[in-house]
Amino acid sequence: MKFSTKAIHVGQEADPTTGATIVPIYQTSTYTQERVGEHKGFDYSRTINPTRVALEKQLASLEGAEYGSAFASGMAATSAVLNLLSSGDHAVVSDDMYGGTYRLFSRVLARYGLRFTYVDMTDLEAVRAAVEPSTKLFWIETPTNPLLKLVDIAAIVGLRKPGQIVAVDNTFATPYFQQPIALGADVVVHSTTKYIGGHSDVVGGVTITNDRTIADTIKFHQNAVGGVPGPLDAWLTMRGAKTLALRMREHARNAQAVAEFLESHDEVARVYYPGLPSHPQHALARRQMSGFGGMVSFVLAGPQERALDFAHRLRFFSLAESLGGVESLICHPARMTHGSIPKEDRERRGVTDGLLRLSVGIEDEDDLIDDLTQALDAVAPASVS
Ligand SMILES: *Cc1c(COP(=O)(O)O)cnc(C)c1O
Repeated sequence: MKFSTKAIHVGQEADPTTGATIVPIYQTSTYTQERVGEHKGFDYSRTINPTRVALEKQLASLEGAEYGSAFASGMAATSAVLNLLSSGDHAVVSDDMYGGTYRLFSRVLARYGLRFTYVDMTDLEAVRAAVEPSTKLFWIETPTNPLLKLVDIAAIVGLRKPGQIVAVDNTFATPYFQQPIALGADVVVHSTTKYIGGHSDVVGGVTITNDRTIADTIKFHQNAVGGVPGPLDAWLTMRGAKTLALRMREHARNAQAVAEFLESHDEVARVYYPGLPSHPQHALARRQMSGFGGMVSFVLAGPQERALDFAHRLRFFSLAESLGGVESLICHPARMTHGSIPKEDRERRGVTDGLLRLSVGIEDEDDLIDDLTQALDAVAPASVS
C-alpha cells in the first residue's frame, strides 16, 4: 500500500457494530465487561480507546512502522521517549531544537538525573566527541527550527552502539517527505499539532517505532503517566492526516515559490530553505528528503527593526506561533518562539532580530507572493524616507 492509501485506510475499517464508514468518536471512559476480565480488548480509556487505536495504526503506517502511541501533545510524546532512560543515563541532543524540548530536557528531566550534552548535530565529529559510556540516546530534529539546518540521520545511526537509541523529531518534514525509520532511526516523534493535524484546531503528539521492546516500554509509560489524547482530539488528528500527502505537496510547492521569490528580491538579505540550491546542505536535503517542506526563514536587508514592520503589514500571513496548518503564518523567532533564549546565545546561533520565519500555507501561490510584494514595497527604504 502506498502513502496516500494508507492515510485513508489503515486502522480505518468500517465500524464492526454499525458499519459506519468513518471511525466513530468513542467518547467513553470505560467499557462494560461480560464477566470479570472478559471483554473485547478495551477496559479503560487511559489504557486504550478505539478512536485512539485507529489513529495510532494510521500514523504508524505512514512512517512505515508497526507501533504507534498517541499523546495529548508533542511534548507528552517527547516525554514518553525520554521515559526510556533512567537516572544517570546520558543523551546527546541538538543545540538547535524546539524550545519546549530544550525546556523539558534542561529544566525538568535534568532534575531527575538525566544528563544532556548539546552539540551542533550538523557536525558529526562533535556528535562523536560528545558520546560517553552512559550515552543511551541521540535526539535529532531535522530540519531545525528556525534556521532549517539539516542533520544527517543515517550518519548518526552509523554512530549508534548496541543499547543506544536514535530518536528523530520528524515534525517539520513529516513522514510524507522524510522517513527516519527507513534510515535506521529507532523512534520517531511528532507534534501532530502541526502538519499531521494540519488545520490548527487540535494539539497532539505521537511516538512511532518498529522495535517491540521500545513500543512496549512506551505503552507502559503512556498508561502509567497518562498523557493521552481524548477521543475527539484523536479523531480530528486522524481526519487531518488523511490529506497529509496532498497538503504537503502544496505546502512545498508554495514554499519553493516563496523562497525563490524572496531570494531574488533586493530587500532580502538571506533566505533559508532546504529546497534552494544556495542552502549549504541542499545535497543532503535531496538525499534524505523527498521534498523540502513548507517552512521558509529569511532576513530582511537593512536595519533589523524592519522585520517587525514587515510582519505587521502582511494580510494572508497571520502573525502567530505554531506552524503546519493550511493557513500561512509568520513568526518573529527572536521575540516569539525563541524569546526565552538569552540574546547573546540566540544571536550566536543566527537567530537575530532581523530573522523571520514563514509557515507557508496552501492558499493560492499568487496571493501569497502578492502579499509579500506589497509588504516588501512598503518597508523599502525609498518609501520610508
Ligand atoms: C510544536 C513542536 C513540538 C511540541 O509539540 P506540542 O504539540 O506543542 O506539544 C515539538 N517539536 C517540534 C519540532 C515542534 O514544532
